[in-house]
Amino acid sequence: EAKIRKCGCQLFDPGINDTFQRKLELENELRWAISKNQLHVHYQPQVQAGTGQVEGLEALLRWNHPTLGQVPPSEFIPIAEETGIIMDIGRWVLKEVCSQLAQWHSRTLNVPPIAVNLSARQFKAPDLVASFRDIVNRAPCHPGQIVIEITESSSMNDIDSVLPILHEFKAIGFRIAIDDFGKEYSALGYMKKFPIDILKIDKSFVQELTSDTKSAVITKAIIDMAHGMNLRVIAEGVEYDEQLADLRTMNCDIVQGYLIDPPMSPDMLESRYLTGACF
Ligand code: C2E
Ligand code: CA
Ligand code: CA
Ligand code: CA
Repeated sequence: EAKIRKCGCQLFDPGINDTFQRKLELENELRWAISKNQLHVHYQPQVQAGTGQVEGLEALLRWNHPTLGQVPPSEFIPIAEETGIIMDIGRWVLKEVCSQLAQWHSRTLNVPPIAVNLSARQFKAPDLVASFRDIVNRAPCHPGQIVIEITESSSMNDIDSVLPILHEFKAIGFRIAIDDFGKEYSALGYMKKFPIDILKIDKSFVQELTSDTKSAVITKAIIDMAHGMNLRVIAEGVEYDEQLADLRTMNCDIVQGYLIDPPMSPDMLESRYLTGACF
């Protein structure tokens, strides 16, 4: 096999070698991705479960490399995290989102809040909050227009250092969403400590909603608990009408998923979802 001949040694697993090479290549290329204009932000609508009216957008990073093609975030985000490149990328995404917001606002379009994803690694930067505040101030855009999405896994393992950061974000006016809720830890204790506004139910629950009674029971319980704490609930990964119907019955506030629309370019998003302000 060609793969085995390449490393000249049958004992060495060619699969692992290829994976390693690919990772190295992505890592090298990723360092240039910002300066070479290969990164783009796409936007996915989050709509009211009842009315379909757009309530928010999630900013999702896209990397279009001239020879490697579209590299999925599931492949390059972990590499960006490991290498620390995520620090630059994270700031770049926020800048991009803020200037998009400013541009839409300057044309008097009604724009809902935009959510950006924050990696665990970004919490380690001592200037995280200051740099986010500066980016928003310079854009200029209002912090209330930005939702910061954090995952349970990124925030749970170091509550003592993450909690003050979240309070600083809140003090500035950012809103906070817990992403992928229910996927991993779900230690409910921190739910009362964290200053959160939005809870996003992980797509694994939504995907099993109609086939697994337990998933349905848990989803309903999460929604009721979140409402008891005055949080908005977003169900992500909604792909089928049946899922949407169930989520409506359960009083889920907002839905996001391919059934409504996939992430799309700013132009496409604008033409489908943003309307001019009424005077
Ligand atoms: P996430 O934050 O959980 O984002 C939701 C993912 O689900 C996105 O994948 C989105 O395209 C996908 N999705 C949306 N609707 C559906 C659906 O109906 N069914 C299914 N199966 N999937 C759906 P994407 O864009 O490939 O991003 C993957 C992950 O990469 C994100 O998961 C997030 O953790 C990370 N990511 C993306 N952009 C950024 C970023 O700017 N910064 C950071 N730190 N992470 C990012
Ligand atoms: Ca997210
Ligand atoms: Ca998620
Ligand atoms: Ca995720």
